[in-house]
Amino acid sequence: MRLPPIQRFESNTGVRIYRIPAEAFPNFIVYAYVLLGAGVPTLVDTGSGYGNSNEQILAGIRSLKSDFNEPITEKDIKRILISHGYIDHFGGVAFMVEQTGAEVGVHEIDRRVLTNYEERVIVATKDLRVYLERAGVSDSLLPKVIEMYGYSKKHVNSVQVSINLTEETAIDGMTFIHTPGHCPGQVCIRIGDVLLAADHILARTTPHQSPESITRYTGLGHYLESLQKVARLDGICLSLGGHEEPITNVYERINGIRASHQRKLDRVINAIKAAEKPITISDISKRMYPDIHGYDVLLALEEVGAHVEYLYEHGYLAVCNLDEVERENNPALQFGLV
Ligand SMILES: [Zn+2]
Repeated sequence: MRLPPIQRFESNTGVRIYRIPAEAFPNFIVYAYVLLGAGVPTLVDTGSGYGNSNEQILAGIRSLKSDFNEPITEKDIKRILISHGYIDHFGGVAFMVEQTGAEVGVHEIDRRVLTNYEERVIVATKDLRVYLERAGVSDSLLPKVIEMYGYSKKHVNSVQVSINLTEETAIDGMTFIHTPGHCPGQVCIRIGDVLLAADHILARTTPHQSPESITRYTGLGHYLESLQKVARLDGICLSLGGHEEPITNVYERINGIRASHQRKLDRVINAIKAAEKPITISDISKRMYPDIHGYDVLLALEEVGAHVEYLYEHGYLAVCNLDEVERENNPALQFGLV
């Protein structure tokens, strides 16, 4: 597919920000950013490492010299900051460290994803299986969903991490806002009036949510709090995402994302009402998304689960099969309205 062009932005603090596209997965574009003027030349995110992603990011960095007259090559990149520990953003990190010799930074909650990736995949897969059983996914579908989850997770090499992105420490004019929800260690990077929002806030898509019962610090409750955190920041004039277009009014976009989640919460309640009996997360997912296939089935089960969990935590839902839950190993939870 044709990549979007490299784009140049500038913060009101004089940092040049170059947006570099890569095809993370077939027909799925991710952006990395090169920051010049914020201390040493810095790369934010590294693409997926899958397909041509590595070469595309490398070519993008090299083109800054020829197309934008910036006196740098990849060897000048001394710092790689990872916005969050999802593969489309850090899968290329080992390759980029090899090319640049740069130090790597990430929020400490996602650190082990980068330093011990195999552990992360194995533990996360087990937690996902427990969740899917509890969500009522059938024995025939479950292995397929688990297999889909494992797809594209085999090629990643672990790296050392030496920089901890915390809210307490500003680095060369950059501040870090921990915004857990979409991913546990998700950080937004503020550079003057520009926010690198990664996947916390996207221009068109409501960022994917997954229940906290699978991975701590995800879940809709954390996510909505993290949206509030960004809404309280003054003076953001431009928000640049890990995907999709730049956002000029991030505050309006936050309101749009909140409204989208409210509609989904209402749809979950309506699905349970329509069933006229307690139902599982898998049942709710089928009612809300009857026509989906492949990987979308897993995404829907996670998205619906995050909303069911939020409603349950806030006292709108009850678990209606307590006898069975007490008696059996890991039965599906049947949810009803309170
Ligand atoms: Zn992403």
